[in-house]
Amino acid sequence: MIKAAIIRCEKNETRCPLTNCFKCLVETKEGFAGYDECMPAGVFTCRCPGDNAVDLAKIIKSKGADVIHFCTCTFATKTDQGWSQEKGGFCKSIDTLIAKVHEATGLPCVKGSAHLPKDYTAKVWE
Ligand code: SF4
Ligand code: SF4
Repeated sequence: MIKAAIIRCEKNETRCPLTNCFKCLVETKEGFAGYDECMPAGVFTCRCPGDNAVDLAKIIKSKGADVIHFCTCTFATKTDQGWSQEKGGFCKSIDTLIAKVHEATGLPCVKGSAHLPKDYTAKVWE
């Protein structure tokens, strides 16, 4: 059983209650595909410019999370043809942010959660 935490972006916090993130987590689909079973380890909200992310991730680790996922909407946008990376998402520095969190915690960090863009395989820092 994998305990997966999610870090979401403040720019979406009043618009999406992570409905599809949680659906994919419990059904082990999209960014969570590959886990036999998965349960939520918690959710935190990153706030610009992202200086809080490392501290939040350390708390996530102390709560026993095995992995941290970063929401797909941080790097992709919904289009008429589905989700696309072409124009990016809410965060211009998501890769740097993920790398910092991974370095500080040693936890595997996954760029992606729900509705992955077509032709995108979730990138993992491990
Ligand atoms: S990835 Fe999708 S479901 Fe998850 S928080 Fe972003 S918009 Fe909501
Ligand atoms: S640093 Fe990126 S992920 Fe964090 S709140 Fe700002 S835009 Fe969102």
